[in-house]
Amino acid sequence: MDLGIKGKRGLVCAASKGLGRGCAEALAEAGVNLVINSRNEADITRTAQEIASRYGVEVTPVAADITTEDGRAKVLEAVGQADILVTNAGGPPPGVWTDWNREDFIKAIDANMLSSVALMQALVPGMMQRGWGRVVNITSQSVRSPIAVLGLSNTARAGLTGFVAGMSRQVAGSGVCVNNILPGIHATDRADSLDRGVAEKEGITIDEARTRRQAGIPTGTYGRADDFGATCAFLCSQQARFIVGQNILLDGGALNVTI
Ligand code: NAP
Repeated sequence: MDLGIKGKRGLVCAASKGLGRGCAEALAEAGVNLVINSRNEADITRTAQEIASRYGVEVTPVAADITTEDGRAKVLEAVGQADILVTNAGGPPPGVWTDWNREDFIKAIDANMLSSVALMQALVPGMMQRGWGRVVNITSQSVRSPIAVLGLSNTARAGLTGFVAGMSRQVAGSGVCVNNILPGIHATDRADSLDRGVAEKEGITIDEARTRRQAGIPTGTYGRADDFGATCAFLCSQQARFIVGQNILLDGGALNVTI
């Protein structure tokens, strides 16, 4: 399917690996020239080279912490203007609800809510002026169904979801579609580290922890970053012009709900 976005310019944050990289790859395959970001310079440079040579698009790497004002300024300077924005950052650490103090909450809200808000505030006005834009925020299944050990994630991402619910309707008339994708468990380093946490807590092996978590997913497997990326690229396509303010859950059916 031709997504109709060849030659567009996109920013994908937190994209040296995992879900962000999956999105960058799928957009590059659709012909989008990219700026991609993550903190480790060697990793993001290597990823940019690999994507550029595989898909024949321009890919500019920017090593920066997207959760800081300085980091975002560096990324935004490299981007200039963008037609497509994918916001993403590392997830907060697990714990118990009584563990976290104000500083922990502020850190999580900065990373998983306010960074995305700031990037949209910086780039969406230009999209509106040009009459076309797509934004995808990577959030989490925790928005629909809380994950007990990820209270910081439950909190921060719910805030971002509320913001998007309102602003997406205010910008849609200018040709800008803003949506969120909610990952369930995907086979990335983040999933490995959560499996490790479960294994340590329960006194079982990582394989046992993974098998146990997989058993809760109707597909019986973790999701894949490339499938996740394909959904993101579709939400950034011309054909997605009528999809506004939605929360697309990619979880293999794990959340047992009717709608
Ligand atoms: P991942 O495989 O660990 O990859 C994280 C990526 O983000 C890396 O490229 C990392 O590179 C970059 N990154 C982390 N913190 C950053 C920061 N402050 N600034 C810029 N780049 C940063 O993680 P993932 O599984 O793709 O997860 C992506 C997001 O989806 C996370 O917020 C996660 O909580 C959420 N999520 C994931 C799952 C899942 O099962 N995988 C499920 C629900 C939600 P550097 O370390 O070099 O910066």
